[in-house]
Amino acid sequence: MIDRTAAVRLDAADPLRPFRDRFRLPPGCIYLDGNSLGALPATTSARITRAVEEEWGRGLIRSWNDHDWIAAPARVGAKIARLIGAKADEVVVADSTSANLFKLIVAALRARPGRSAIVTETGNFPTDLYVARSAAELTGAELRTTCAQHVIDAISEDVALVVLTHIHYKTAARLDMRRITRAAHAKGALILWDLSHSAGAVALDLNADEVDLAVGCGYKYLNGGPGAPSFLFVAERHQPHMRCPVGGWMGHRDPFAFVDEYVPAAGVDRFLCGTPPLLSMLGLEAGLDVLSDADMGIVERKSQAMGDFFIAAVEQECGGFGLTLASPRASSARGSHVSFGHPEAYSIVQALIRRNVIGDFRAPDIARFGLTPFYLGFEDLWKAVEILRDVFDKETWRSESRSTRARVT
Ligand SMILES: *Cc1c(COP(=O)(O)O)cnc(C)c1O
Repeated sequence: MIDRTAAVRLDAADPLRPFRDRFRLPPGCIYLDGNSLGALPATTSARITRAVEEEWGRGLIRSWNDHDWIAAPARVGAKIARLIGAKADEVVVADSTSANLFKLIVAALRARPGRSAIVTETGNFPTDLYVARSAAELTGAELRTTCAQHVIDAISEDVALVVLTHIHYKTAARLDMRRITRAAHAKGALILWDLSHSAGAVALDLNADEVDLAVGCGYKYLNGGPGAPSFLFVAERHQPHMRCPVGGWMGHRDPFAFVDEYVPAAGVDRFLCGTPPLLSMLGLEAGLDVLSDADMGIVERKSQAMGDFFIAAVEQECGGFGLTLASPRASSARGSHVSFGHPEAYSIVQALIRRNVIGDFRAPDIARFGLTPFYLGFEDLWKAVEILRDVFDKETWRSESRSTRARVT
């Protein structure tokens, strides 16, 4: 039996409790969507205002040097590296996750001549599937999709690259990074992990797991703000042998030499293309600075404990209302969100949002709840479940429009 007292006790013992004050959430809002758009860190507005007023307004073009704007992609990348078990010079921040996927998939295919297939998961995040398809069409490779359980069997000797999302966006199912990476290497294939729902939420050790390539979002658990740029990881051993398929000037060894011939930068910088979006980049840096003293092992344990608590509370309080757990029950097999299937999931999520409990809906029938370890506590989860029970008891979801869905769900 769990109740509010149990939640309060868990909050009192939570070593991450002090992080909560580093974020600005509207009063009364229980924010269960930090896996889609992270909350606003308390320092971000001032940082961006300073960048606009002083660095841009007064510094003008001089700020590329005086405020080291030019180093931001590598500097911010190094701050992400710490969170994912990478070296500082293996990560840069640039572009969107979709664009980075494209750059790394094409680079990997070209680094494995003589092999012609990409393997990925059926039901992967759509952009991963669409970009892999585009890259396959461009290079003449074949895209093979298979369910997660059969991925390892699908890695044959003709596979150049395996592209997988570590934590599934819908179900939060977590794949075994080390085991699948080893299986890919055993067949001579490279692997690219999408860490969009992993970075900042669970403990990662890309180098211990011998990962080749990775990408991930800046605006989810890294709290970089809407449309914050993405990061990409290229293991040091691969950097000299992989070329960015979009050879822009920022990836050149010496952009300000202004020469006609493209010579890639020596390291991971070669995967930069154009001028970085500085304001967004500095917003992401502010989000990362908030996490600079976080121990990712503690973060992962809290993510898992919150998931266990939330599942138990929903099943205890809302049993009999037709919710089915769509996430793995075992916390070791799960990321930092919990999803439930329900035929009226869209209306239920809308009714919750009306009550200031913000989750989201993923078609066709998933209600998804992000359990961000930095600014959520167990009592918040308990309150959210009480409100969910009330939405079912009073059937308030019935008055939500089912015919007109917002463009963003
Ligand atoms: C959120 C997410 C993305 C987003 O890609 P963008 O290019 O930033 O829109 C990509 N992949 C996965 C797995 C995601 O969860």
